[in-house]
Amino acid sequence: MSNIFTSDKLKITLEKTGSTVYAKMSFPVHCGIYNEIETPDFIFHFNLNGEIFRAKGKGRDWAHPHEWLKRTQGNDWIYYSTGGYTGVFEATGEYYLPNFQYPTNSILGGHPFAQQEIRHICESWHQILQELLDHTLGWPDKFSSFLRDAIANSPEVLEQKAHRLQEIVGGRISVLPPDARHVDYNFIPLTISRGCLYKCTFCKVKNGTVFTEKTRPEIARQIEQLKQHWGQDLVNYNSLFLGEHDALQTNADVILLSIETAYKELGFAKSYIADNSTFLFGSVTSFLNAPECFFRQLNTFPGMTYINIGLESADQETLDRIGKPITERQVEESFARSQDINDRYASIEITANFIMDDKLPENHYRKILELIREKLPHVKPKGSIYFSPLTFNQPSRSRLFEFNRLKIMSRLPAYLYIIQRL
Ligand code: SF4
Repeated sequence: MSNIFTSDKLKITLEKTGSTVYAKMSFPVHCGIYNEIETPDFIFHFNLNGEIFRAKGKGRDWAHPHEWLKRTQGNDWIYYSTGGYTGVFEATGEYYLPNFQYPTNSILGGHPFAQQEIRHICESWHQILQELLDHTLGWPDKFSSFLRDAIANSPEVLEQKAHRLQEIVGGRISVLPPDARHVDYNFIPLTISRGCLYKCTFCKVKNGTVFTEKTRPEIARQIEQLKQHWGQDLVNYNSLFLGEHDALQTNADVILLSIETAYKELGFAKSYIADNSTFLFGSVTSFLNAPECFFRQLNTFPGMTYINIGLESADQETLDRIGKPITERQVEESFARSQDINDRYASIEITANFIMDDKLPENHYRKILELIREKLPHVKPKGSIYFSPLTFNQPSRSRLFEFNRLKIMSRLPAYLYIIQRL
C-alpha cells in the first residue's frame, strides 16, 4: 500500500526517507525517517512518535524557501535562517544560523520570531491540524490514524514530554557542546555526572550542584528510561551527549562503560543515520588528569568522540577577572595536550572554547594567538577553537570584526560558539 495520500486539501507522506548523513550544504538536507503533511500553505514534519519537529511556510511572506522551524526535544522552537549566506558559514561552520526564543550569546542574526508568519506556525500548527480532521472522510485508515496521533501530541502533551525528559536526565540541560552542530544537536542526552568543579563567576549556564558522579545503576536506569522516552524515533538517532558540565571528570571506567552501554541499549548500530558521534564537556583539571589509557580505549569506539574543553583565556589577568580558578600555565598545558591527542587519535577531537568580550585585558587575545598561531608550525584541520561572546542578547559588529580577525590568524578551524540549551 502506498505511503502517499493526496487530496485537494493536503498531501501526506508517511515514513519519508531523508538523508542518512548530516551533510553541510547550502540547501536544507533533512536527515532520518519522518512523516510529512503538506498543505497549500505549510509543510509539517513529524517524527516516528507522531510529534511535530519541523515546519515551514510556503507563502510569499515566508522569508526564504530554504528557511525552516525546528522543535527540539526540550520543546523549544528554533528558526534556521540563511543569514543571506553572508558569512554565516565562515562564522559558525554551518550554512544555517539558529535563532532562539530565549536569551543567548549570538552576535549574528535578527528577530525572526517577531515575524507574524513564523509566530503563526509556532502558535497555530495544532489548530491547523485539527481543521484537517474535518476532511478525513474516506481516507485510508493509516493516514487518518496518523493525523489523529499527530493531533494527540498537542502543545500541552509535548511540553509534558519535555518535562519528562528533564526528569530523566536530572534537569534542563542549560548548555550543549558546540561540536554537536555536526549532528544538528540531534543526540540522546545521558547524564553521567552533575555540576562542575569551578563555578566560575562569569558563567551564565552553571548550576549550584557540586560535582557529583552518577552511580552505575543510576546510569543504566537512565538509559532504559531514555530508550522508552525516545520510542519509535530511536532509529533516527545515533549520537550521544554525556552530561553535564564536566563529564570528563567522571571516573574513566564509568565514562567508557556508559558509552558502550548506551550504544548497545539504544541500538545505535541499527540507526538509520550513519556515523556515530559522542559529545562531552571537559575542564582543564579533568582533561589534564585523564589517563592516557582512557584516550587509547576511547579511540577504539565506533564513530567520533568530541571533547570540548572550556579554556576561556590563556591570560592570568583575564582568568582572574572572570573568576575562573585555574592558571594560564594549566591552560597552556591543556592546549598542548589537546594538540597531541588530536594528532595521535583519529577518532577523538579535542576542541576548546575561549571567551570574547569588548572589555577584556589587552593580553587576552594576544595570548590566544600565541597558542592558536605562533605555537603551531602549520595549519591543522582538526581541533576547532570556539569563541564564545560573554554578553547575551547583544548582536555586535565590533565583536564579529574581532572574531573574523582571530579566525584569519588562527592555524586551527575557528568558529563562534552560539550557546543553546535542550
Ligand atoms: S564555565 Fe564550566 S566550569 Fe565554569 S562555571 Fe560554567 S560550567 Fe562550571
